[in-house]
Amino acid sequence: MSKFTNTETALIHGGISIDERTGAVNVPIYQTSTYKQDGLGKMRGYEYSRTGNPTREALEALIAELEGGVAGFAFASGMAALTAVLSLLHSGDRVLISSNVYGGTFRLLNKVFDHFAINYTIADTTDLEVYESQITEDVKAVIIESPANPLMTVTDIKAVAEVSHKHGLLVIVDNTFMTPYLQKPLELGADIVVHSATKYLGGHSDVVSGLAVVSTKELAEQIAFIQNSTGGVLAPFDSFLLIRGIKTLAVRMDRHVYNAQKAAEYLSAHKAVKNVYYPGLESSQGYAINRRQAKNGGSMISFELHENYDIRVFFESLELVSLAESLGGVESLVCHPATMTHASIPADIRKKVGITDGLIRLSVGIESIEDILADIEQAIAKAEIK
Ligand SMILES: *Cc1c(COP(=O)(O)O)cnc(C)c1O
Repeated sequence: MSKFTNTETALIHGGISIDERTGAVNVPIYQTSTYKQDGLGKMRGYEYSRTGNPTREALEALIAELEGGVAGFAFASGMAALTAVLSLLHSGDRVLISSNVYGGTFRLLNKVFDHFAINYTIADTTDLEVYESQITEDVKAVIIESPANPLMTVTDIKAVAEVSHKHGLLVIVDNTFMTPYLQKPLELGADIVVHSATKYLGGHSDVVSGLAVVSTKELAEQIAFIQNSTGGVLAPFDSFLLIRGIKTLAVRMDRHVYNAQKAAEYLSAHKAVKNVYYPGLESSQGYAINRRQAKNGGSMISFELHENYDIRVFFESLELVSLAESLGGVESLVCHPATMTHASIPADIRKKVGITDGLIRLSVGIESIEDILADIEQAIAKAEIK
């Protein structure tokens, strides 16, 4: 539990926020691999930086407090965090995944964990009856993303957690798109939250990192053991960068969301646009559920242009908005899920889950919304096939 009622304050003062020895208002970068021991078995709390490092520990305490968990763990990437969490499973176990799960998560299960006979099924977490029917004897965990990438599909986390727990499943929520400022999955019943902190938490597109937060002491012991054994830990400098990014999360998110709402409304009214996917639009799938479990619709939008627009020309004509993988940074980015973030999902599965070749994903940054929309407007105009 956080000692702060308001997340805005916890972002800045949560976890271990100052250096006890000197009073420095930032936790220093403890750039060390090892620690002097005062005698055999006489350590000062640290022995080796894979096992524990004060800068990483400050970050881990911070994210645990923000998500309302028992313990936090920092990893070298979001995928390293997911790998550690999935390492809780044993051969023969099966994981259910939301149908729009991040491409890398799909690939990890489809191409790596399958070596260890850990199986997966793509589940419909938006339909509780269908979902429950997919829980076979061997299913031990579920990975939910809400909203899920790239169609911004909303899952009722609380309802899915309840059904899952009835069958003894471990409920894992990838909270990358929302962050604890907008959504707290552990409060909704999840057992583990994971993040690609590369995205909104870092917020400046300058560090690759992952986080995991667990809800029980038992899970904390297991993940600590796995983290130390498999070793995908976050470096001290990157831990510092992430703490620095997290301090401004609330103000950044407020502007991200303000801009995203404007952009979604603009796109919805545009004659060139066929579909807009954004949980902040009242007409969107899961709008009411999202309102209940999250503060707002976040800052990720997907949309499709009508057939008489050439999306290649659209991407090439953008000047301010960059065509790039990733999301959640201060700068606006667009991507083409079918060939970029979701390329590792086979074409037939992509088609089945609605990731069309015409889909465009927009990570709305915190620039002036007028400038963002002007750039999109001129690129759409150039993309029209006359
Ligand atoms: C980017 C991303 C990941 C992977 O994180 P990395 O930091 O790139 O390893 C996982 N889940 C979601 C939702 C993501 O957007």
